[in-house]
Amino acid sequence: MGLIEIPDDHPRKVSLETRETIIEGHQKHIVATAGLLAHGRGEAFDYLIGERTTQQAKEAIQAAVAEILLADHPVISVNGNVCSLVPRELVQFSELTKAPLEINLFYYRKEREDAILKALLDAGAKEILGTHDRPSETIPELSSNRRKVDSDGIAIADVVIVPLEDGDRTEALRAVGKRVITVDLNPMSRTSVFSNVTIVDNIIRAMPLMVETAKRFRSLSEAQLIEIVDKFDNGRNLDASLQIMIEHLQTEAKAALQRKPRTVKELKEADQ
Ligand code: ATP
Ligand code: MG
Repeated sequence: MGLIEIPDDHPRKVSLETRETIIEGHQKHIVATAGLLAHGRGEAFDYLIGERTTQQAKEAIQAAVAEILLADHPVISVNGNVCSLVPRELVQFSELTKAPLEINLFYYRKEREDAILKALLDAGAKEILGTHDRPSETIPELSSNRRKVDSDGIAIADVVIVPLEDGDRTEALRAVGKRVITVDLNPMSRTSVFSNVTIVDNIIRAMPLMVETAKRFRSLSEAQLIEIVDKFDNGRNLDASLQIMIEHLQTEAKAALQRKPRTVKELKEADQ
């Protein structure tokens, strides 16, 4: 339930409701103030891709889930935005793939950690890594407090899932030999480029599909999963995702030429 009521026929209904969710997350200290801005950047790229899950993103989801199911120690890194937008799906996905959830915050505050922990527990999580009381180690390549990782989590992980992540951290995880999977609407971000698998989609649409895919793929053989991973190429994936945005913009540009501009009087009448 959002803070404001948005009419069913509003063209930006889902987007506005998601924005309300993020604002509520901020009020509950789950989302950092900078997280609100990161969300806005995501919204802009979602507009460009047509606010839908592309076939390309579906293929990336399949490669990601196959890779996670094949991993020895997959771990899901959770930040404030992800926790606020898809807490239940995170818990479900974690259970289906046996990948633990680890809290990792760019803007660490004990209050934020507690709020995220509570939201995940409320969503049904049984065990959460990365909290201040847990044993930790540091990733040498990073200078911020995000160096800290859980000794039973990211420290020993072979595959790390880092949705809505910052490029520095993604690069550092790759530098220490981890394979990285991300969900990021911007195919040009450093995170998108550094990752092994980038799902270019809004996390609110991608996560439910990841859960569904994990349920289906659990019965596949190792050889079948390996085949799915092997045929995926992230460079081609990012290029195709960018092309989809370019084509979408071209279609919109053509439509704009056909559209008759409306006068202020007409616009006012249409509003009544
Ligand atoms: P990078 O550091 O990787 O170069 P950046 O500095 O542009 O990226 P950050 O704020 O560090 O951006 O990371 C947040 C990323 O998450 C952005 O690329 C943004 O587009 C993306 N993002 C924000 N909200 C969503 C969402 N709901 N679903 C998917 N991606 C999102
Ligand atoms: Mg960044």
